[in-house]
Amino acid sequence: MKAKDLLAIADEFGCPVYVYDANKIVSQYERLSSAFKNVPKLQINYAVKALSNISVLKLLKNLGSGLDTVSIQEVKLGLLAGFAPEQIIFTPNGVSLEEIEEASALGVQVNIDNLSFLEQFGSKYPHIPICVRINPHVMAGGNANISVGHIDSKFGISIHQIPHILRIVENTKMKINGIHIHTGSDILDIDVFLYAAEILFETAMHFKDLDFIDFGSGFKVPYKEGDIQTNIEEFGERLSARFLKFCKEYGKDLTLAFEPGKFLVSEAGFFLAKVNVVKQTTSTVFAGVDTGFNHLIRPMLYGATHQIENISNPEGRKRFYSVVGYICETDTFASNRQIAEISEGDILCFKNAGAYCHTMASNYNSRLRPAEVLWYNDKAHLIRKAETFDDLVKNQILLDVL
Ligand SMILES: *Cc1c(COP(=O)(O)O)cnc(C)c1O
Repeated sequence: MKAKDLLAIADEFGCPVYVYDANKIVSQYERLSSAFKNVPKLQINYAVKALSNISVLKLLKNLGSGLDTVSIQEVKLGLLAGFAPEQIIFTPNGVSLEEIEEASALGVQVNIDNLSFLEQFGSKYPHIPICVRINPHVMAGGNANISVGHIDSKFGISIHQIPHILRIVENTKMKINGIHIHTGSDILDIDVFLYAAEILFETAMHFKDLDFIDFGSGFKVPYKEGDIQTNIEEFGERLSARFLKFCKEYGKDLTLAFEPGKFLVSEAGFFLAKVNVVKQTTSTVFAGVDTGFNHLIRPMLYGATHQIENISNPEGRKRFYSVVGYICETDTFASNRQIAEISEGDILCFKNAGAYCHTMASNYNSRLRPAEVLWYNDKAHLIRKAETFDDLVKNQILLDVL
């Protein structure tokens, strides 16, 4: 997207505002699917939690994507966006058995990640095929909070418990139609991933009725120039070849599934905020913007780096700034960052704002959540209105006994 289009959107819809470039979502989807073009049955299930706006879901549906969901509400959003239940996989962790039953009753594929529920579900519904989430105990994540395959992780059923899964299958006569891993959110190393895949292939041989193997996600995207990113093309080539060889051994053409969130939408997103104040202290120049971690929590939550550009003055002399939000506690987007000279009223553009930004936004400090705009066919389309004060109070009850 061009800076002039972003500025026009800031002008038309006000700041702060999230903007998503549909072209980038499409090109990322196509990049991933073409990396696996040699696999006859490829299924990409977009991870809704990254960005759950129903218009974005519809865009992905039109590309042929399925959905990966982690709550019954995400399942319902998918159905609302026009997905068929069979195009949705439900991969929750720590939810109630009732929620799993509700999703299953809607017709979506359920992925179970603990032995207790596997046994209970299998006993009650032996005719409904289930996918199991396996923990291969491979550490592939960059940040301790987002690595989910290691030994202490709450996710998945340990590979050491495969005999127990098999006993449950035998006793309940249930059918396991898929196995799944999701080893963490930042796969740097193709070799580490392929190592985890080997464990999954070995595991798969224990199950006779598989239709698919789901390799989860964890594709790394660049946050700034020079960042390491997953080489999708090389990864596709190597995993495809290995997968096809495995299918021969297994004796069936299985579906190879992925569930990328960040990879599909992170770079498509731009978050625009206006500079309220430039404040020079004895040690730092602060640029205070009209937003905070209530709208973009990733830097404060897990130290994510979002590139920030001053699109109002792109040619300006680079100076060092700390970009801070308006929340009344530490609320730092960037410390000592070189940005083109900032004046009050300028529009700053936060990059990589497609994934885990709006979906993690809150009303903290009683602030309103901003609008979302989809840039599609060279036009800006409003896909979520900004909240109003009414939204903030509509579920509150002013007691008259007080
Ligand atoms: C969050 C999540 C994903 C998506 O991860 P990204 O890093 O955004 O690609 C995929 N699968 C499961 C089960 C998840 O919980």
